[in-house]
Amino acid sequence: MVELLGPGGTIEMVRAVLSNGADSVFVGAFGFSRRSGYELKHSEVKEAINIAKGMKKKIYIAMNAFIEKEMIQTLLEKRVSDYAKWGADGIIVKTPEFMRAISNSYPDLEVVASVGCHIDSKEKIDFYSKMGATTVVLSTELRRDFEKIADLSDYAHSLGLKTEILINGTACYRGVGNCNFFSYFKDAFETITLVDSDGFKVEKIFGNPEKGGGCYRPCLYIGDPIVKALAPSSVLEEMRIEKNLNERFTLAREIPKFLEIGIDILKIQGRKYPVDLVASMTRIFAKILEKSLKARDPDLSEEISRLDLLLKELDAIREEQTKKLRKKLYEKLTPKIEIAQE
Ligand code: SF4
Repeated sequence: MVELLGPGGTIEMVRAVLSNGADSVFVGAFGFSRRSGYELKHSEVKEAINIAKGMKKKIYIAMNAFIEKEMIQTLLEKRVSDYAKWGADGIIVKTPEFMRAISNSYPDLEVVASVGCHIDSKEKIDFYSKMGATTVVLSTELRRDFEKIADLSDYAHSLGLKTEILINGTACYRGVGNCNFFSYFKDAFETITLVDSDGFKVEKIFGNPEKGGGCYRPCLYIGDPIVKALAPSSVLEEMRIEKNLNERFTLAREIPKFLEIGIDILKIQGRKYPVDLVASMTRIFAKILEKSLKARDPDLSEEISRLDLLLKELDAIREEQTKKLRKKLYEKLTPKIEIAQE
């Protein structure tokens, strides 16, 4: 049975998505997911698990920032052991060694190879399968290549793995987890120390999505003097050809196609948006899924037009977020570099 997976950026959002048709929810472990500012503290993860289990639904904990080797044992002891004890269903991971360690120590937990693994080939499916993944999230780069999605999904199934695809989210340049453009702006990276509910301290690097600190999204303003001053012109030339840099995409219309292909999990991203908006979107996706399970060629026009209105709202919020990030990038870098006046 296909699973609709919703975002849980807060406890309130966990409740909202599960009450509005999601079969499962994912939450970020404080300091260790790819989203800065919308993660749950350790005590809240326990609460979220209790909520999901109370509703007989599934919950995954995202620990998909890059995890240093020396942190793995500590995280197994201080975090994953509690998640397993509390009844979490799975852990979302990007770092292969961490994946293998979870799989070896907690064989009952599902291990999801995150979208950050940028899985776009059979070789990568083989690799993550060997690392202990039980589910592979296919790369956002494949989002409209149904032939390849079907081929990889069939291959993953032949190895006994489940497949997941993002039906709503943002796709980074060359796929989430595969973009390196943010690193030209490393002088604006900022180390943030977070203290969890049990006193556990962790450092995040703001500006580096691989270290869980979000991104300044410079790809969205590549014409800016600050970007031109720091990124090589050859890279900018390449990026200009790409039409959908950091595209916010929705694959609602394609849900019947994904069902036909046999994708196991359809994921809605959105931990950083308001709870009401995410809940309403989840409700519409659940309706689309319900209709698509009943008929081969369902009439989704009403749901799609309602979703479009919500996505306009979401885009406006996203634009504001990008403006703030861009402003912060200028504030951080203007004293450090010379920006050509145009
Ligand atoms: S937001 Fe832009 S610069 Fe940042 S990782 Fe994504 S594509 Fe790269």
